[in-house]
Formats: sequence, C-alpha cells, structure tokens
Amino acid sequence: MIVKFWGVRGSIPTPGVDTAKYGGNTVCIEIKFAEIQRRIIIDAGSGLRLLGNHLMVKHGAQRALKTDIFLTHTHLDHIIGFPFFAPIFLPDTRLKIYGPVTCETESLETVMGGQLSYRYFPIRQQELAAQIDYLNLTEGCFDLGDDIRLTTKYLNHPLLCLGFRFEYNGKICCTAYDTEPFQNLFVTDTQDPAFDAIMAHQGAVAAKEENDRLEAFFAGADLLIHDAQYTQQEYESSRRGWGHSPVEYAIKAAQRSEVKRLALFHHDPMRTDTQLDELTKLRCHRHQTGDTDVFFAREGMQVEI
Ligand SMILES: [Zn+2]
Ligand SMILES: [Zn+2]
Repeated sequence: MIVKFWGVRGSIPTPGVDTAKYGGNTVCIEIKFAEIQRRIIIDAGSGLRLLGNHLMVKHGAQRALKTDIFLTHTHLDHIIGFPFFAPIFLPDTRLKIYGPVTCETESLETVMGGQLSYRYFPIRQQELAAQIDYLNLTEGCFDLGDDIRLTTKYLNHPLLCLGFRFEYNGKICCTAYDTEPFQNLFVTDTQDPAFDAIMAHQGAVAAKEENDRLEAFFAGADLLIHDAQYTQQEYESSRRGWGHSPVEYAIKAAQRSEVKRLALFHHDPMRTDTQLDELTKLRCHRHQTGDTDVFFAREGMQVEI
C-alpha cells in the first residue's frame, strides 16, 4: 500500500506562509494498491481538490475513473473538498461513497449533497455527471474485494465517527481520527455531593475498556494515522470533550499497541510550521518513542507500507 497525504489539517483550511511546510488543506488521504490498480480515498476535505486535479492530469478527462471514498464522518472539514473534486463532473466516473449511519433523518447522500445546492454552490447535486452510489457503514468487518479487508470501529467524537483498519497483503493501515480518549462519564471528585463511589468506579472501568478496545483495533498496524490536534497541556486546560486527542496520548497509545509507524494527524488550524517542527523535536525522538517511528503528517507526503 502506498499512502499519500493530500490534506492533514483539521477544522478549517489554513493557507498562508505559516503553514506552507505541513500544508493548509483539510483531511484527505489516498491509499494506492499498485498491483491491483485500486485506489481508496479517506475523507473529502479540501485536500480532495488537489487529488482530483492530479487524477485528471494522470488519467486524462477521457478515461473512466473508478474509486471508493470512505468518510470517517461528515463534519465540514471532512467533506468540503467534495464539490471541487473534478472527476464528479465527468460521465465516466464511478464513485462509491461510504459513510457512517447517524441518528439523523437525512441520508448520507443528502448530507454530502446538501453542499451542492444553489444556497452554497453554483451547481446542484442532480447536475453531477458522475455515477455516485452512497453506502452506509456501521461497525464491522467488510470484504472490499481483491483481498482488501476493512474493519471499522466507532471512535469518541461529538458526531458518530469511524476509525478504519485496511488490511492487504499482510500489511495494515489504520486511521483513528477525529477522536479523543474515552472518559469516565461519572463524577470523580469525592468532594462533589453527586459523587458515588460505585458509579465512579464503573465509569473508570468502562472508559478503560473502550480505550483498550480502540488500541486493540490498531494493534500491530504498519501505519497508524491518529488524531493529534492538541498538546496535553492544551487538552487539559480547555479542550476536553471537543473530540480530539493530545499528541502525547496518541504516541503512548501507539507504543502500547506496537504500531510500527505513527502519523500524527488532523493538525490544529492555529498550529504553525514552526510549532510543528518544535513538537517534532520535543516528541518524536526515537529514544522517547521506542520501536514506533513517529512523525507529523505533511501534505504531499507519501508512505509505503
Ligand atoms: Zn475534523
Ligand atoms: Zn469532527
């Protein structure tokens, strides 16, 4: 598998001189399976526009493009690139878009296609020339054909969000974003009048079980792409419950799960290149990360596993 990062930023695109090195496009990942001529795209953030342009040059407008897009969830930073994905305007394009089933009444097609209405965009969804099929995903194991296997896992985010584990030819590529460590949902402060020792204990056990389950999900991955939007200090100070992980936690979780390479991902829009370079020096040293190779994902970066 060849994994290419077309967008690594979370929340909102951040063009500018301060983000030129790591990139300002929101999340989009391409996995290429060279021998079987397959391509899988994960998320449709603004990075998808670049991937679409690349495919147009590579394949030309005349050749049919067949590809699958897997959406972790439909927060704006994960779908805003879709209306700008040039292949959707070509009649020979065949797209399958997979995304999680939420409790909302709208279908995945309505949520994605809602961006393509005159209110937001000059072209409507029904005007797209490509053939697009929408498929609902839940937690489970799936055979994607050509010996590609997919396992999905619910993460901890304000909206239902899926982690992906793609396995092919003995190699494993996993994603775990947008997510934060599962928390004890009960009162843990013994001074709080609402404190209940049994509930607090059960809450701690449940949170640990969920965190262990997630680590088992990415255990042994050749590449894990994990949420690392905050530093531990930022997380503790005010960002708990926002659905994103601290860098330090992502590294420890990957080490515990014997992940070979960890790509820290979904960078905060406020994080500059200088800060990411500093965090790399601080956190990604091999003497701290042990057997896990840790790096901050950069737009345009390609990892072969
Ligand atoms: Zn996001
Ligand atoms: Zn999100």
